[in-house]
Amino acid sequence: LESYLLHNKAFFDQLTGLKNRSGLYEAFHTRILSGQKKTYSIVMGDIDYFKKVNDTYGHECGDKILILVADTIRSHIRPEDCICRWGGEEILLLINGTETVATALAEKIRASIEQACVTEEGTEVSVTMTFGVASYIPGFKINKLIQLADNNLYIGKNNGKNQVVS
Ligand code: GH3
Ligand code: MG
Ligand code: MG
Repeated sequence: LESYLLHNKAFFDQLTGLKNRSGLYEAFHTRILSGQKKTYSIVMGDIDYFKKVNDTYGHECGDKILILVADTIRSHIRPEDCICRWGGEEILLLINGTETVATALAEKIRASIEQACVTEEGTEVSVTMTFGVASYIPGFKINKLIQLADNNLYIGKNNGKNQVVS
């Protein structure tokens, strides 16, 4: 049990229950690198105007939103995919599939996050999210793909947010 708890702390984010960065790299090595199938995609998502949510409704409400976002994304991905809390309000998805598959999935997630909300003192609070997608290119390391997904996310932020860019 103790080693299970240690593993849990080392590889999982305590607030959302999602994997953390170490958990993501661990999953990448066991599922992708050691497997036959090398086609995979990275989706990098970032909550839009999240600072404003904290400033307007408080940090606790922000935390509830993070949990809502995590649960919403979790409900959309398949067991062979992997969700990671990459940073504060950045979520990285490791998708077992092509760019087309990953983009369609990101679009589904984007639409359902837009619909979801938490209730804070009688007020419904919701957020939107912007996503960047990048897919496996032979010879490219995972960090390179993460960088490409991040570049696409940045383009989406500059183009008005609440969108998927691949
Ligand atoms: P953009 O639309 O460009 O993404 O703007 P933004 O406000 O979302 O981005 P910015 O990077 O300016 O702010 C991110 C905010 O996320 C600031 C920080 O307080 C908040 N944040 C990060 N981690 C947590 C957390 O664990 N809980 C809460 N409540 N807020 C967090
Ligand atoms: Mg951010
Ligand atoms: Mg943000």
